[in-house]
Amino acid sequence: MTGCIFCRIVKGEIPGQIVYKNAKVTAFRDINPKAPIHILIVPNEHVDPKEDLKPENVAVMADIFLAAKEVAKLENIDERGFRLLINVGADAGQEVDHLHMHLFGGKRLGPMVCE
Ligand code: AMP
Ligand code: ZN
Repeated sequence: MTGCIFCRIVKGEIPGQIVYKNAKVTAFRDINPKAPIHILIVPNEHVDPKEDLKPENVAVMADIFLAAKEVAKLENIDERGFRLLINVGADAGQEVDHLHMHLFGGKRLGPMVCE
């Protein structure tokens, strides 16, 4: 999608600290990390989690989840554990409308929901 910052990172049009990429998914470091390890995992195709997730393309969720497991291995936190999170919509504070799974790790992450 024109102008989408994550589409542009996937295409290499703007720089991103890419840590993993396959035919369906790209993972790169969050520019404003909230944990020692904070990586975003996105489908290479633009998918808006509010509008575009449908039975015919729901496999994208499996793609990003499997990629998250690979990223956790690459970052050596697969044994210690990590948190996966997807913000959807205004109350969750979603800023970018290209589906992205946050992977947080590298420390004890504390409660599920912050005040
Ligand atoms: P969300 O609030 O779930 O929409 O998360 C969007 C995330 O994208 C935030 O954690 C931002 O820090 C991150 N972000 C925004 N622009 C970039 C960028 N150019 N490269 C990497 N991460 C970014
Ligand atoms: Zn996009």
